[in-house]
Amino acid sequence: MESTFEEQHHPAIMIEGIQPFGCLIRFDADLQKVFQVSANLQNILGVSIDTALVSSPRDILGGKLQHRLQQALTKNTRLSAAFTINRQVNGSYQRFHVMAYRYDDSIIVEFEPLSRSGEQHLLPIVNEWLSRLAQVQQIGQLQQMLVQSVQAVTGYDRVLLCQFDSHWQRTAIAEECREPARSLLNYRFPASDIPAIVRDRYAVNPLRHVPDVNAKVVPLVPTSDSINLPTPDLTAGVLRTLSPFHYQYLCEINVGASLSIAITDEQRLWGILTCHHFAASDISAAERDAAFNLVQMASQRLFLLQARQQAQFLEQVLNSRELLSAERDKVVQPTTLLDKYGKNWMELFNCCGIALLYQEQVRCAGETLDNYELDIVGKWLTENVGHKACWACDHLSKSPLDNLVNLRKRAGLLAVPLPIEHNQSGWLLLFRDTEKMQCSWVGKKQIIEAETSNPLHRVEERGHEVWVETIESEAQRWSVNEQHAAQDLAEDLAVAITVHQINRLNKELQRANKQLKEIAHTDTLTRIWNRYRMELAIDAELAAAERYGHPCSVLLFDVDHFKSVNDTYGHDMGDQVLTRLAEEVQSKLRVSDHLGRWGGEEFIVLASHNTLDEAMALAERLRHHVEMVEFETVGEITVSIGVAQAITGSESRRRLLERADQAMYRAKQSGRNRVEAASTELSTF
Ligand code: GH3
Ligand code: MG
Ligand code: MG
Repeated sequence: MESTFEEQHHPAIMIEGIQPFGCLIRFDADLQKVFQVSANLQNILGVSIDTALVSSPRDILGGKLQHRLQQALTKNTRLSAAFTINRQVNGSYQRFHVMAYRYDDSIIVEFEPLSRSGEQHLLPIVNEWLSRLAQVQQIGQLQQMLVQSVQAVTGYDRVLLCQFDSHWQRTAIAEECREPARSLLNYRFPASDIPAIVRDRYAVNPLRHVPDVNAKVVPLVPTSDSINLPTPDLTAGVLRTLSPFHYQYLCEINVGASLSIAITDEQRLWGILTCHHFAASDISAAERDAAFNLVQMASQRLFLLQARQQAQFLEQVLNSRELLSAERDKVVQPTTLLDKYGKNWMELFNCCGIALLYQEQVRCAGETLDNYELDIVGKWLTENVGHKACWACDHLSKSPLDNLVNLRKRAGLLAVPLPIEHNQSGWLLLFRDTEKMQCSWVGKKQIIEAETSNPLHRVEERGHEVWVETIESEAQRWSVNEQHAAQDLAEDLAVAITVHQINRLNKELQRANKQLKEIAHTDTLTRIWNRYRMELAIDAELAAAERYGHPCSVLLFDVDHFKSVNDTYGHDMGDQVLTRLAEEVQSKLRVSDHLGRWGGEEFIVLASHNTLDEAMALAERLRHHVEMVEFETVGEITVSIGVAQAITGSESRRRLLERADQAMYRAKQSGRNRVEAASTELSTF
């Protein structure tokens, strides 16, 4: 891991000294020269400091170990696992763990004496726990078993598994503890407890062991300063000491020994297993490594179970989406989808209510907000979040929405834009209620308050400063998976909405087309066919008559002296007369005959299948009928009618109508209120 100059010189890291349970030698980069040794070298390796500093590394390490280290550190900067060696110390054989790593232009080698008793007893115990861990199916059980197993192996008073949240605050999710330790299960710890610089160091070395908090730090001699070398970063080793802050922290909580093991998931620190013992502890290197292996094994299993759980969740969402896409063919109202599937989605996403907003419509399932408030939320989202990404919030009361609507118990909101058309806004809103009402913190009041901005209430004081924060505003956080799944769901809903809209638009279009057709074909005053429609009908009739050889006639009629109706009674009355006239004539026609308005006060009847004689008779009946009608206010009205039968062969509509018009003209000429038959020839006047 890259670190900056400042980080490298941070007091939490750069302590030129080690814990006394081993010794250290700092060599040059080629293992040819001794730079520094820890002051306890004589005690542990049986070599005096003065001798060591003037000896060749080969003499101190032995040729074999020197060679092994040179080889192992050509490719890697740190041994992947400690070497175990046997060497004579003050006349008797002693086993050591040897850890080595490069720092800057030096190689640092640590020697940790191993207990004589051997670790045979440990193996069956660890194996037993490993095989049990490998079989657990539930995450909660696995976490509990991990802390149990580590306690069984280390004998520490409290073993606590903590998980980090996105703000680096950690919560104790599993614990094994016994007197005098008091339970910290479910407690929260401020992020500042383990600052970023310390978190980063866990990536270099996931294990930190302090068997005796009160043991004196063993300095390196000579000091780096005095020999003009950079202070070494001992993070990668086993013997590294803690920062003064960390020591202070452990003293404050009366801890005598501490072992912490970082759990990393895909490069990110997931959590930390902390073991505290109230007296100093003398666990062996083997026990410590066994705890480390148990954590490694359990965390792998944990991530597997988590992945499985997430896969299950996604599969359930997928099932729900399949159901949804099956609905598409039925073109159901999108809001009814919420009625149908809302409950299922609420369970899946662990939320208290779902709302669907689009096109001024609001539909809800479960507990959300009032409709008008949802509308406000939708508008706020559209203005402030936009339609590109979803908006996940787990503390609505701290969001601007708190000022806009009455949130009641709603504390979490996952708002997913519906990808409908770009100019339309729509939202799928998932709500969560306040999850925790109280949260217990361990740490300094000012620090916690700065991190939470909520007032704290002190409840207990025994070894730990414990504070209770009353949280009324937080909901369970929306996981990345949940956000992705909700986006998929919103996409499906958007498709359903679009399908429904297209369908509705099509229907509207059909209706509009029909209306347009009617407008195009109907006379607005009398509601009978207009001239255009009549022309179409005559053309069709002429074509049919010619094809099948049947007769076809037209009657063209004009109201007599209509101008005087207008003049006497007004134009409106004239309109009423025309409307009534159309109704009267229509009432006397067969269904196969068509009446149309030809223009002004002229009308036309298309009498299909009628010969001239038949059409004349019809015209006479119509003339007579009109004459007999008593028109309101106006009284009697008469019409003059010209009748023409289409000449079989190829008479055009124009010619036929011209002949009818000439006949009508003759009727007018002959005194009006008459029927005249057209001559077969056009007169030329
Ligand atoms: P004639 O017997 O020779 O047909 O006499 P007329 O008065 O009916 O003849 P003219 O063609 O000179 O007058 C037709 C009148 O019909 C003129 C016009 O104001 C009136 N008219 C045409 N269309 C409408 C209409 O839609 N509503 C009303 N109220 N009057 C109309
Ligand atoms: Mg006229
Ligand atoms: Mg007229």
